[in-house]
Amino acid sequence: MAYELELAGLVDCLRLAGVPVLAEERDDRHPLVIAGGPLTFSNPVPLAPFVDVVVLGEGDELAAEVVTLAGEVGWRRDALVAALRDRPGIYLPSVHGDEVPKVAQADDALLPARSIVISPDSELSDMFLTEAARGCSRGCTYCVMRRSTNGGMRVVAPAAVLAGIPAGARRVGLVGAAVTDHPEIRAIVRGVVDGEREVGISSLRADKLDDELVGLLARGGYRTLTVAADGASERMRRVVERSTKERHLLETAALAARHGMKTTKIYMMVGVPGETDDDIDELVRFTGELVKLHPRISYGCAPFVAKRHTPLDGTDFAGIDVVERRLQRIRKGLAAYRGKAELRPTSARWAWVEYMLAQGDQRAGLALLDAHTAGGSFAAYKKAFAARNAVPTGPRARVPSSAEIIALRKRDTLLRRNEV
Ligand code: SF4
Repeated sequence: MAYELELAGLVDCLRLAGVPVLAEERDDRHPLVIAGGPLTFSNPVPLAPFVDVVVLGEGDELAAEVVTLAGEVGWRRDALVAALRDRPGIYLPSVHGDEVPKVAQADDALLPARSIVISPDSELSDMFLTEAARGCSRGCTYCVMRRSTNGGMRVVAPAAVLAGIPAGARRVGLVGAAVTDHPEIRAIVRGVVDGEREVGISSLRADKLDDELVGLLARGGYRTLTVAADGASERMRRVVERSTKERHLLETAALAARHGMKTTKIYMMVGVPGETDDDIDELVRFTGELVKLHPRISYGCAPFVAKRHTPLDGTDFAGIDVVERRLQRIRKGLAAYRGKAELRPTSARWAWVEYMLAQGDQRAGLALLDAHTAGGSFAAYKKAFAARNAVPTGPRARVPSSAEIIALRKRDTLLRRNEV
């Protein structure tokens, strides 16, 4: 499971497989249902009604261990749950209830994770995926993969990344939360494109781009240069501790133009705690500077959703009306740059559903089941969350104070130095 809104897909998968959706309705005649993935770094509790076992965090070792153990106990659920009861990194809803144990961290020797199957019939078709780094050393306060998660960033040596690419792979995707923070990223990308392969990188950081790297990306088939700014203004980026500055975004647009990219795409968030219309107006004004450098700017804009295990955990959703008003304000402002700048927002309504799941417990999972069964409309979700009394259960339903943010920053620094 990657993120909250995929839970409806899990319900579909189980139904299509003829497996009862709720764990309590299954017995030893049914297959075990084992979940894992990025969602487990934040809040896997809404998954609990549907699954038998959840592998938390990095599953490189644990996933194989759980499957081996399941075979050893004859694929019986109660025996497997008993065998896993004290195993760190495993969440057993029938034992732990809403108390999720700590996530697992795999041995560095197992990195990088790589594609096992390359298929034309998948997302990123025919692309061989390999990690170049895992985790992130930065501290954006809204991000689940920030430096306090599993020891920050771990890098893979360029030789190990390149040696793992099969001879027949024509497209290579370099995966990680902060791939361009890899100190030897240029050597890795050059190794890929020198082999006449296309390259893709899951996360370009605007402050790490330069002529050499963007030139290599253009050789590797890049036509859209995508970076994230997240905060709408310099002030908002400071508030969420995002280190991207206007000057980095300007340089990104200039590099994109110089290397013949069709589009500069910039990810943004709206509805971030503390944001005002002034921040939105600054974004519009700044767009005027960007389009002078590259007249094809595209904003991918997502409403902010607070996630567990982040400093902003428990902060409220801005409100569907507030988010829609801010998006409308951006749209109106960008009208001055028609044909040069565009806004591609994700839905404020579905962001609210994501928020209810991100901050909810098992009741939120059951509400999702009710809503999905009732047709999956937004109205069905609203009704189901109310009927199940599925309220946000975050630890702090408010914006942290400046003093708290400073204390968290200090703790992060100590964690980085292994002093905590
Ligand atoms: S740079 Fe990206 S991955 Fe790293 S903490 Fe910030 S948002 Fe998360």
